[in-house]
Amino acid sequence: MTNIYSEPVIELLCELIGRPSITPDDAGCQVLLAERLTELGFDCETLQFNDVTNLWARLGTESPVLCFAGHTDVVPPGNKDGWSSPPFEPTFAGDLLYGRGAADMKSGLAAMMVAIEDFLAAHPSHRGSLALLITSDEEGRARDGTLRVMDTLGDRGEHIDWCVLGEPSSQHALGDIVRIGRRGSLSGMLTVHGVQGHVAFPQHADNPIRRFAPVLAELHEIQWDEGNEHFPPTSFQVVDIRAGIGAPNVTPAELSARFNFRYSTEWTHESLQEKVETVFAGHDIEYELNWHLSGEPFLTEPGRLIDAVSEAIHEETGNAPELSTGGGTSDGRFISPAGTDVVELGPINASIHKINEHVKVEDVITLTKMYRRIMELMLL
Ligand SMILES: [Zn+2]
Repeated sequence: MTNIYSEPVIELLCELIGRPSITPDDAGCQVLLAERLTELGFDCETLQFNDVTNLWARLGTESPVLCFAGHTDVVPPGNKDGWSSPPFEPTFAGDLLYGRGAADMKSGLAAMMVAIEDFLAAHPSHRGSLALLITSDEEGRARDGTLRVMDTLGDRGEHIDWCVLGEPSSQHALGDIVRIGRRGSLSGMLTVHGVQGHVAFPQHADNPIRRFAPVLAELHEIQWDEGNEHFPPTSFQVVDIRAGIGAPNVTPAELSARFNFRYSTEWTHESLQEKVETVFAGHDIEYELNWHLSGEPFLTEPGRLIDAVSEAIHEETGNAPELSTGGGTSDGRFISPAGTDVVELGPINASIHKINEHVKVEDVITLTKMYRRIMELMLL
């Protein structure tokens, strides 16, 4: 009986977990991957932007380009005493492997690395090119990571046709969900101006809370859309409101609020902003509104890549995946606008960002086979 703990992909995963790459620190993870990729003939390029380390590696000059993408950075472990084993010491317990990044997403990285080695050993003369785009800035600000690598590639006219992101997409069983897009995320930072006054003399004051309340009510009443075939309905959520100076007899001069849209492809950030500003225009209110766009929604249309990913999953599990656009944002938002088909396939996400993050050892081995099969289906 072979010991699954000593499979090459599990050994690599343990090495990666052992490097405490708290965002945006790569902690030497990319060097480890680059050494192995160089051995396979990849051209490895480190793209350093501020404190962020990125790796762009490519084998071949031909089209089409199949790229595996992901991040080496992890979120902080949180209260270390809460962990049943040290977060940066890979620890086996039964069929599980514990450690920060075990699921998000060092198992994805290890699986793509070993899958590429296996694929190239079996098929040294495949068509097209293979590439890896790895960043250490996905869990942080995400400004100097994938976004800037894509800008660099764009400037050079280097195009990625298909991208498989190794983010933990699965919910209950490996491959039960793949992500084929993500909702957009747009935040509004609002300040409403009024005039401070004595609570007993409202005629001498202008209470910004009272000004904002009907606008807020109207924003909540709007049915933004009903979603569409691939997206759930657009959601408007207020995350923060503050006003008041801490005294019971004073009405405030100012109110600040913060809200967020998770939106479908029925909207763009411009059309949403316009709609919100129309609502404000219908009220007597003096305000400033600043917007922050985290990412437009994106969607990969049905086609070759989704077919190949679905088939690879079906061959290993006997089941077809659910094609989803749920969850938060991912670096797919930076890759897709270049005209790249992006699909996210990775391990179960139940423990990500939590204390005692873990992955099923068997799933990492199966994920490696799925990635290898995707390469066969796309590049042979
Ligand atoms: Zn992740």
